[in-house]
Amino acid sequence: MIVYDIQNLVKFYPGQTQPANKNITLQIYEGEIFGILGDNGAGKSTLIRQMVNLLSIDSGAIAFFGHNIIKAPHLVQMNVGYMPQESGALNNLTVGEALFFTAHLRGMSRNDARKECDALLDLWQIQELRHKPSSRLSGGQRRLLRLAVAMAGSPPVLMLDEPTNDLDPQRRKLVWDNLRCINQEQGTTIILITHDAIEAEKAIQRVGILRSGELVAVGRPSELKQQVDRMLRLELFFSPENPPTLPPDLTFIPLQPGHWRVLLEWNQVTLTLNFLNLDMVDDFRLYSATLEDLYLHYAQQA
Ligand code: ADP
Repeated sequence: MIVYDIQNLVKFYPGQTQPANKNITLQIYEGEIFGILGDNGAGKSTLIRQMVNLLSIDSGAIAFFGHNIIKAPHLVQMNVGYMPQESGALNNLTVGEALFFTAHLRGMSRNDARKECDALLDLWQIQELRHKPSSRLSGGQRRLLRLAVAMAGSPPVLMLDEPTNDLDPQRRKLVWDNLRCINQEQGTTIILITHDAIEAEKAIQRVGILRSGELVAVGRPSELKQQVDRMLRLELFFSPENPPTLPPDLTFIPLQPGHWRVLLEWNQVTLTLNFLNLDMVDDFRLYSATLEDLYLHYAQQA
């Protein structure tokens, strides 16, 4: 079943010369974990804010379970748990109150909402924050609360804007584990924006890559990888004031001072390693394609 059917979606912000979303056509299927990848400013938040009816659509249409979201806004409201990047709306509530009221507003009885609140505090390992006002949480704690609030009342669809931002590695793992678990156990459809491509690869079933407002690739990572599969990733570590010289047909992606990534065809490997003066390189590593390479390949093409 198609959860979201997006047709030719265009969004222009006032005063902008380029649209933030250009003619996006995309279907999201029930029960999948769909990742939206793209550079800053690529139009990811704009897309999902239109999908949850928080931003008007300039042209095109979005159907949610077959209903135009503009004509049936309540459907989205009741069935989509949205986690924005930032939000101040919960500031006056304690963590426990935020979870209880959200679950109750999404249709649970007071008794069930109390149980839901306990279950979510356990799931997100934030039991000790139950009585803390949400305005006094750290950035990472607030993100976990926003995640818990998005899924309070078990909506069938979750829409998450960068769920692992600001989190330490242990909590990042908790997020990916919990998302996989609710997807498998409850069949929840999860749509998420992430920059955490390496971790996301373990959870995401399909991916859409946005570049300058356009959807430039959609598919299963394994299918998309076939297009860049023949590419290997060479990581070079060197002293920043002494960069290595590459063969003329290769370009590098600077990751940090003294750290480049080079995408190579298999048949370029020997030539490249022979060409490089390895005395000028502190270390090098060669990898096959990952979701991150797909992202770099599609999101950053000229
Ligand atoms: P992403 O989520 O991929 O970082 P956004 O959807 O936030 O990208 O932004 C897409 C483009 O739209 C950017 O060029 C951004 O500057 C612009 N934009 C976003 N929000 C607004 C706004 N409220 N007014 C004007 N331009 C905006």
